[in-house]
Amino acid sequence: MKILKFGGTSVGSAQSISTLVQLVKEQQQQDEAVAVVCSAMSGVTNTLLQLVTEASEGKAYVTGLKTIEDRHFGLVRTLLEVKHQNVALLGLRLYFNELEELLAGVRALGEASPRTSDRVVAYGELCSNYTIAHVLRQHGVNAVFADARQLIRTDSHHGKAAVDEALTNQLVKDFFSRHADAVPVFTGFIASDQHGNTTTLGRGGSDYTAALVGAAVGADQVQIWTDVDGFMTADPRLVKRAFPLKQLSYNEAIELSYFGAKVVHPPTMLPAIARGIPIIVKNTFNPSFSGTAIGPKSSVNCSLVKGITSIPAISMLTVQGGGMVGYKGFSGRLFSALAQAGVNVILITQASSEHSITLAVSPAEAQAASTAIEAEFRYELLSGRLSKPSVEEGYSVMAVVGENMKQAIGLSGKLFSALGRSGVNISAIAQGSSELNISVVVSSEDLSKALNSVHDALFLSPVKTLNVFCCGTGNIGATLLRQLAQHQEHLQTSRHLRINLAGVCNSRQMLCNRDGISLKNWQNELVEHGEPASLERFMEQAALLNLPNAVFLDNTGSTDVAGVYRELFGQSFSVVTCNKIRNCGTFSDYHKDKQVVRKYGVDYYYETNVGAGLPVIKTLHDLLISGDQVLKIEAILSGTISYLFNEYRGDKTFAAVVREAQQSGFTEPDPRDDLSGLDFARKMLILARETGLPVELQDVQIQPILPESCTAAPTVEAFYQELEKSEPYFASLKEEAAASGKVLRYIGSLEGGKVKIELVMASPEHPFFGLSGSDNIISFTTDRYRLNPMVVKGPGAGAEVTAAGVLADLVRVAAY
Ligand code: ADP
Ligand code: ASP
Ligand code: MG
Repeated sequence: MKILKFGGTSVGSAQSISTLVQLVKEQQQQDEAVAVVCSAMSGVTNTLLQLVTEASEGKAYVTGLKTIEDRHFGLVRTLLEVKHQNVALLGLRLYFNELEELLAGVRALGEASPRTSDRVVAYGELCSNYTIAHVLRQHGVNAVFADARQLIRTDSHHGKAAVDEALTNQLVKDFFSRHADAVPVFTGFIASDQHGNTTTLGRGGSDYTAALVGAAVGADQVQIWTDVDGFMTADPRLVKRAFPLKQLSYNEAIELSYFGAKVVHPPTMLPAIARGIPIIVKNTFNPSFSGTAIGPKSSVNCSLVKGITSIPAISMLTVQGGGMVGYKGFSGRLFSALAQAGVNVILITQASSEHSITLAVSPAEAQAASTAIEAEFRYELLSGRLSKPSVEEGYSVMAVVGENMKQAIGLSGKLFSALGRSGVNISAIAQGSSELNISVVVSSEDLSKALNSVHDALFLSPVKTLNVFCCGTGNIGATLLRQLAQHQEHLQTSRHLRINLAGVCNSRQMLCNRDGISLKNWQNELVEHGEPASLERFMEQAALLNLPNAVFLDNTGSTDVAGVYRELFGQSFSVVTCNKIRNCGTFSDYHKDKQVVRKYGVDYYYETNVGAGLPVIKTLHDLLISGDQVLKIEAILSGTISYLFNEYRGDKTFAAVVREAQQSGFTEPDPRDDLSGLDFARKMLILARETGLPVELQDVQIQPILPESCTAAPTVEAFYQELEKSEPYFASLKEEAAASGKVLRYIGSLEGGKVKIELVMASPEHPFFGLSGSDNIISFTTDRYRLNPMVVKGPGAGAEVTAAGVLADLVRVAAY
């Protein structure tokens, strides 16, 4: 015998009921005896509970009731042939009349007791199962409608009654013997007490009904048909990348469901354990998928952690005071007082000093818990040995569950570092003594971030997701996004890295989307769904998404954007930037940034600040980390100046070379911005600071290339005229160099704590002599590379190489 239980969505539409019929028939074709248990149609239990409340408040309930009625009647008309419709409609009509009378009574009384509430809510299961029994019969199944109020006996704890298993067993067995060849269709969730009053088994309790029926008849299997592919690693609504589990032990399923995985109601496992009946969780909307098998054993060849669940809202109750230290009976009194008040304690942590105990309870029970504790310990409170229990709201519990976690060394490390990296603050931790579960209490705002980052770290490692917010979509930004689009597959397969573009902002528009903006189609998405840009709002929205592994990319040259990094670090964003403005501010800011980065455990990478995509800063760091001493750095870090001197040969005047370069787009609109050496000086400043020198920009000595008259010229045109006039000066430099077989080079150097940039006549032995085009070159003379300096050389500008450098930094963020 198999018990097939169908949840709300599985009986919520004509289509899903047709699937149900088909599934039952398939079992019968295989000569398998079947019993069916169904919930109320999706949403009906909630609506009925709402109607009870509204009726008790004197509000109108007729429209709500009519909606439920129409839904059932509609299904009867869709699913049953006309000749079968009348009987079914008549039966339903009777139920709805009773329901209406009940609600009228509630309204007249102006109150609804839990007992009345149970009576009302039972109609959800009565109506759905009654309808389904009729549909099955029309399809040739010998279905018998079974009102579980006659079969499942409970105590009188309305809303969540405790089952008398022995009596229930007997009643169910008797029912089966009276209906030997039939397919019973049992109402889930509802039962009755010894006085015949309707009770319920707690929200989601139809699963439990199925297990009770299964245990009574010694079923071979209980199948829970629902709307997801089985028990999953996390709630798929909260964690997009959750995936279904093949196998779970009863204990794991209990632990997961107790901590919020509502896919199976927690007590369901108990009758199944007692009889060793496997529970299979399957998807009505994807019936061919194998689903999850819950049985005595956990699967062996799989990850140590099985699932992550959460209880979204809990209250934290802390009891503290010197009176507790070493006092043996304290906990006993505390917990029996809570039990007597009917408070369910979700989690307990006690400080090792025994000075305080913190309990997590449902917010609905927090007041009762507090009152019970105050009553139990009134003398201790009076004498000051204990202080009044404090209650804090706004917390959630996340639990990580797995039978094999006992053997997992380093698992908590992974868990806590994932939380730490995402900036999630942990308010309390508890590990079950079975080591089946580690629970952490976090603020409710952080729950989604906590679930996702821990899920990624424990299940999807090695695949990591970086949530990227890209500011600036000019030349470099757009190139970077194109490169990411091209390489995303490669990044996923070879680097186990997934880039989720969670935000884009340029000077005109901005857009944030937790589920990701297309790397290929971001321009259109930005135009279609974007809103007018504002850096402040972009940051606000990015922070509100509260995503784990969040990275802010600055592809602008903006001072405003550079000004927000520190705030971003404080919100657990890593920053990757090609904008060098921030690193060229005061040394004190530069230094403070590094401290803040360390404090929040985030990354801050800006390799492209110096030499675009060339590995300059990283190389310098590697030398320093390995204990080398930097004696001297020499560099040509202005591609434009390099290019100009390389081109300044033959008959062309220097002014003509500059003009050509400007026309080809190699210089800034005002070429003096390059020729002033200021940008070069900024790069030298950053290099010097990276070696540990506390220098300011004005400490960098710049030997000007341009004569004063050129610098002072009021317009670009006037500048060119002055430059033409200065040709004799440049020509004399060129000739002097040529006469001695040398070339002109504008070289930055850092040595003995001094940073300078000067025009040098380099002889053929000089390592920079042979530099061509617009290349950059950097040579590091260190203790180890004393005689033969280490040299990095290559193109030091251009969107392709700069974007590639930013991309490489991004990959480094993921490499923790
Ligand atoms: P039914 O009405 O079929 O009983 P429920 O709504 O009670 O369905 O339970 C199924 C829902 O449980 C899923 O739609 C899913 O959103 C939620 N859920 C929470 N945690 C998990 C989990 N770990 N695995 C699968 N589903 C989960
Ligand atoms: N219909 C009930 C509820 O919504 C029981 C169930 O669905 O299992 O809680
Ligand atoms: Mg359910």
